[in-house]
Amino acid sequence: MAERVATGDRQARIAPVGAVELAVVADSFNRMLDALVRAEAELVASARLSAIGRVASGVAHEINNPIAIIRGYVKTMRQEAESPALREELQILDEEAAACQRIAEELLVYVRSPAMEPMPVEAAELLGEAAERCRLPAEEPGAPPLIVEAEPAQICVDPLRIRQVLVNLVTNAREATEGAEPVIVRGSLRGAGYRIEVLDRGKGLSDEAREHLFEPFFTTRRDGTGLGLAVCYGLVTAHGGTIQAEPRPEGGARFVIDLPGVVVDGEEPEARERA
Ligand code: ADP
Repeated sequence: MAERVATGDRQARIAPVGAVELAVVADSFNRMLDALVRAEAELVASARLSAIGRVASGVAHEINNPIAIIRGYVKTMRQEAESPALREELQILDEEAAACQRIAEELLVYVRSPAMEPMPVEAAELLGEAAERCRLPAEEPGAPPLIVEAEPAQICVDPLRIRQVLVNLVTNAREATEGAEPVIVRGSLRGAGYRIEVLDRGKGLSDEAREHLFEPFFTTRRDGTGLGLAVCYGLVTAHGGTIQAEPRPEGGARFVIDLPGVVVDGEEPEARERA
């Protein structure tokens, strides 16, 4: 079986064997193979994302400079324009150019690690605050309720960035949900890290969606840009964390963020582990 795996067969598994010691070896061999298959899939996905990232970064750069120049000229023209109608048209031009600039900026967040300002924050409070932002503006009737279940912990993150990620995930989850099934934001300690899950019972994730979710411009919404999850990916990766998505067996989607470097009671994780 080891020979078969070595020659590239990743589906090979050892059938149940009788003898106790052999059964233990076979079982750990099979588990090692499962881990190998998972690691290979992650590697392929991250290589593809970084290739797309390089293209996106080039495009964003090339777009940024001309747009800044266009906006500069439009500003001068607005100041000089005498007719109110022309001023209004130039205002629209400026707003559209600003929208292009935002897209370019979001692409750059996805590609290069943006500057982070990590600080110790209370995870449960951060999750609660992010949820609060999603509740505003005023809950529309029939919007899926939002439940936060967070284990308290001091985590060292850039709170604004993590809040941005959560607002994105919760907004997506609510958009995917039609009925009154709640969206759940859950936070829990995991070893020296903190795990955040966003769970919904919405339309779920197709195989195609799963494969392309974190790529820029993948969208199934008519008015979507497909940049939300790409930006989330960039921000979580910049924290040294991981973000993954999977369909839930009971229907809906589950997004999981694992953040390293939890601080508890002001202690660094290593100090806590040694204690
Ligand atoms: P956008 O919201 O502009 O489409 P995103 O990057 O945020 O961009 O999302 C990309 C796509 O991923 C969405 O169009 C949707 O198809 C899918 N998606 C994201 N979140 C969910 C979810 N919770 N349930 C089902 N599909 C989702």
